Amino acid sequence: MWAWRKEIFKQCLLIIFAVILSAFIGHFSQMLIVILLVVLIQQAVLITQLESWLSRGAGGEIPRGLGIWEDIYYHFYRIRAAKKKRKKQLSKMIKQFRQSTDVLPDAAIVLGRDNEIQWSNKLAKKLLGLKKSDKNQRIHNLIRQPEFNDYLIGNQDDISIIIHSPIDAQLILQLRLVRYGLGKRLLIAQDVTQQKKMEVMRKNFVANVSHELRTPLTVLKGYLETLGNMDHDCGSKLLIYSLVQMLNQTERMQYLVDDLLLLARLETQQQKTDYVDVSQLIKTICTENHQPDFSSRINLQLKTNVFFKGDKEELRSAFSNLIANALKYSPTDSKIEVIWSKQENELYFDVIDKGEGIASNHIPRITERFYRVDINRSRKLEGTGLGLAIVKHVLIRHQAKLEINSQVGIGSHFRCIFNQN
Ligand code: ADP
Repeated sequence: MWAWRKEIFKQCLLIIFAVILSAFIGHFSQMLIVILLVVLIQQAVLITQLESWLSRGAGGEIPRGLGIWEDIYYHFYRIRAAKKKRKKQLSKMIKQFRQSTDVLPDAAIVLGRDNEIQWSNKLAKKLLGLKKSDKNQRIHNLIRQPEFNDYLIGNQDDISIIIHSPIDAQLILQLRLVRYGLGKRLLIAQDVTQQKKMEVMRKNFVANVSHELRTPLTVLKGYLETLGNMDHDCGSKLLIYSLVQMLNQTERMQYLVDDLLLLARLETQQQKTDYVDVSQLIKTICTENHQPDFSSRINLQLKTNVFFKGDKEELRSAFSNLIANALKYSPTDSKIEVIWSKQENELYFDVIDKGEGIASNHIPRITERFYRVDINRSRKLEGTGLGLAIVKHVLIRHQAKLEINSQVGIGSHFRCIFNQN
């Protein structure tokens, strides 16, 4: 604004000069025209200079100007200096970002709308074999495993998948896609080879130990039963009590070993799938159990008789565990509901009891191995703390879900949700 005023002031001075000069020599209008022409030509030259500088990309030295043009060029100079500073800051930031992503323990790849690779860090080369020249290539052309392709299409951000590295089959990678910005996704690959190896070792160890314990426990139980059946002349109450206790504990250990072996099988063995008559299976569980409670306390409702594709023995374990728990954790004179029903594409196995219930803070953890709500109380009731872990594993293997609703003092509702296949 100030520059314009200066410029107008300068033009006014020229006109005053023309007025004074014409007072001496006359020809005012001609003199004014000459002055205006000079001003016009000067401005045209300066505009041409600006135009030619801009057409050259506004690079190199900034031209010099007169009057207001000096200010205009000064503004250009300031904008250019600020831009240069910003560019320097940005490139410093990018350099820092690159350095930090290169030391990331995981491979990171930025994918565009069509899953084309836009950027990747150093570890992406080591774990997935991606090269600089792979930029703009679609990732599914480079990682060709079908499960990865399904994962890319699936748009399921909350899950991760495990694959073998495309460049080294020994490497096991966990992949996760994270969505950000407009249609962009970040693919993170983590090397979990060691973790998986340890997991297999743990599973094998538990399975082997459980297997090895089976025979000595059977022998021990056999001898204890024989001793219990013998007439004890001395009639020592302590001896009889001790034998009963030893037998109970041996049986408990046998259940534990059986449950551990079952869990190990669920984690390692192939599933045997067949069309299972679930109604018949549930009926058998409820009627053929040796415990007297089983049939008398169960209110059974079989609302559908559709067959379900799965592993019969695994389903038997899961359903028996849920029913046994409902009976165990509710008063002996109360009834429990067992319902098998169908709604649209979903099949429900419900077990409802009017027992002690489970406090909400325990619910997320009760499917963990050996997790028992009230250890002292649970210990009095028979159980291994593995029942619900078995249920969880069986359901995972059947792509099913477990829903638990419970209120302390009112009861619990366990629901297994299967997708009809
Ligand atoms: P357990 O052998 O102890 O029954 P589970 O894994 O089957 O082991 O169950 C874990 C814990 O969850 C149990 O110890 C118990 O505290 C609680 N629980 C399971 N089912 C019920 C139920 N129907 N009502 C109340 N508590 C239950």
